[in-house]
This record gives sequence, structure tokens and C-alpha cells, in this order.
Amino acid sequence: MNHQFLNGFVIPKHLLKDLDRQRTQINLNRVLPIAIVFYTIEWVVFYFGAYFYDVSGIILILQIASSLIIPLLLYARFRFEHLSHHFVDFILTLYTLTLITYSIAIALNTQTQADLLHMHIMIMTAIVAILYLKVWESFLLILSSSLFMIFLLPYYQINAEAVFVIQVNLAIYNLVLWFFALGLFKTRLKTMILERDLIEKNQELEHLVQTDSMTKLYNHKAILDFLSEEMSRSDRNEQALSIILLDIDDFKKINDRFGHQVGDQVLIKISDIIKHSLRTIDRVGRYGGEEFLVLLPNTNLNAGRLYALRLQSLLREYKLPNQETLTMSGGLAEYTGESIDALIKQADQLLYQAKKAGKNQIISQ
Ligand code: GH3
Ligand code: MG
Ligand code: MG
Repeated sequence: MNHQFLNGFVIPKHLLKDLDRQRTQINLNRVLPIAIVFYTIEWVVFYFGAYFYDVSGIILILQIASSLIIPLLLYARFRFEHLSHHFVDFILTLYTLTLITYSIAIALNTQTQADLLHMHIMIMTAIVAILYLKVWESFLLILSSSLFMIFLLPYYQINAEAVFVIQVNLAIYNLVLWFFALGLFKTRLKTMILERDLIEKNQELEHLVQTDSMTKLYNHKAILDFLSEEMSRSDRNEQALSIILLDIDDFKKINDRFGHQVGDQVLIKISDIIKHSLRTIDRVGRYGGEEFLVLLPNTNLNAGRLYALRLQSLLREYKLPNQETLTMSGGLAEYTGESIDALIKQADQLLYQAKKAGKNQIISQ
């Protein structure tokens, strides 16, 4: 099945597993603090108030169960990245069932003294409101708790009329609660999907804004932004940083000879060659028409010269349509604390010298 349909709302398949995990994480983050607070309150109730209605035994059982489950919840919270979300769901379900059982036990055991049905209703409502429950989860939870309550009630409530009224009220209330759970689930799921969509779209946009559409390299602004970042990093880490401003030699002639379209294809090919000549920490952008700016972090002039030689030998392997080769000239400059404009200007002047000295060479300071 490719999609899960939700009232005409389509969930992209690749999001399903991710959303499931996110849902579990949200549930865990909500349940854990509530469980801890509830645990503390219940000990206080146990010591000071429980003797009124003779439910101290039930509270004690709840507290023992919680003492076992809360450490598991804490473990899940701090190891979430390493755990299967099904396992975390299982622990959450254990805790939820403990609470429901507790509220049912209290409600039934107080029938002849003070009716604590509202406590059960409160806990059921809180569970539905707080947890992101799937359709079948809320269905099973609400149905099983209603059946328990409705069938066990006559054993605890001696007044037959009261039994009937409570049973009917509970049935209606639980039905309403399930519709409420369904509505909440749909709204929450939609919000989660829209959030995901927005994040994906923003990433696409960011990529588009940074990319030169023809060569797929970083564009002028993006590569300068990265240069500025690298300069700050170099200041912080006191690591070397070199840049090379490259310009294809006699590109006008290539356009004249083969036409502008072939010229474009050559530019795309050269861009690929430069891109593949780089390490993962290096970056290249299209600085201008057929000019490229290469950023070489952690690279001094000597290492930069070696890179320049390697790039030139890679370029020699590329053949133009007439089987001739193509050359580039470049200016290699190392960052020594100057401004970004001064650094680029330096590389540009070195590039100019390379052109004047006969092209097909990368000149460094
Ligand atoms: P030099 O060796 O001095 O660099 O000579 P050149 O012919 O390469 O001269 P220059 O760098 O000044 O000129 C670049 C030429 O590149 C001019 C322009 O027509 C061409 N050009 C710039 N951008 C593109 C492009 O996107 N596609 C094509 N086909 N040509 C471009
Ligand atoms: Mg040129
Ligand atoms: Mg040029």
C-alpha cells in the first residue's frame, strides 16, 4: 500500500515511519514529567488521605507498578535514539494501562462510599487529550475500559438503578470520547505532516537559492558566504585556509568556434571536473561567467599548489569536440587575517598575473 488515506488526506509513504517515531517521542516527552508528578502526588495521597475511602491498597499497587515503569520511561527518554519506537510504545502502553486500571479500581471500590467515577473519566480524558493515539489504539483503550467498568459495576454498586444510569452514561461518554480522540488524531497528524512538508520545502528553497542553475555549483553569493564562514573558522581554530580564483583560458574562442550551447556544456563539464577534484571539506562556486572560486580549508600554500597541479592534470584529460584540450589560469592565495574583499582581490591579481604570464598556470603568492 502506497498511501494511508485519512479523510482524503494523503500521507506520503516515506514519512509514515518517521511520523510514527516522532509521535512516540512526543508521547514519551509528555508522559514522563506527568508520570513523575503524579507519582509524587500519589505518595502524598497515600500517606494523608487514602484511609478515608480505604483505597490505600490500590494506591500502593499503583505506586509499586509506577516504581517499575517510571525507570523504564526514563531509560527510554535518554536512550530514545538507540531504541525501537515499538519498544517505547510498549512501555508507554504499560503505563497507560496501569493508570486506567488504577482509575477503574478506585471508581469501583468507592461506589458504596463516595463515587469516584469522575476520577476514572478524568484519567481517560487526560490520556486521550495528552497522548497522540492512533485510531485503533484509542478504540481498543476506550472500548476495553468501558467493558471492564460496565460489566464489573454491578458487583460493586448495590443500587440497581444507579448501575443502569452509570452504565448508560459511561457508554455515551466513552463514545463521545472516542470521537474526540479521532478528531484530535487527524488534526495532529495533519499538523505533523504539514510541518514536515514545510521543512522539506524550506530545505529545497535554501538549496535553490544557493545553487547556480546551470552548473549546479554554489552561486556567487553562496560561495562568498561560505568563504566568510571558513575565514571565521580559520580565525577560531588557527587553521590554514587557501582559495583559488580560476578562469578558463580563451573561453570566447570556444564559444566562437562551437557556439554558445556547446560553450554551456563545456562549462558544465568543467564544473563537474572541479567538483570531483575536491575533498569533502572543500567547496567550489561559480564566481562569474567562466570563473570559479575554490575554497580549500585546512590548506596552506604548499598544499594548495599540489592541488592546483592535480586539477590541471585532470583538466588535460578532458577533450573539446575537436579533441583539443582546455586550460585554466588561477590565482592561489592563503588567508592571513585580511578582509574578504582583500583576499579575493589578491587572488584576482594573481589570476591576472597568470593570464599575463601566458595562461595555463596557477600562480600563488
Ligand atoms: P581569457 O583567457 O583572458 O580568460 O580569455 P576569455 O576568452 O576566457 O575571456 P574572459 O574570461 O574575459 O571571457 C569570458 C567569456 O566567457 C565571455 C563570455 O561570452 C563567456 N561566457 C561567460 N559565461 C558564459 C556562459 O554561461 N556560457 C557560455 N557559453 N559562455 C559564457
Ligand atoms: Mg576566461
Ligand atoms: Mg572570465
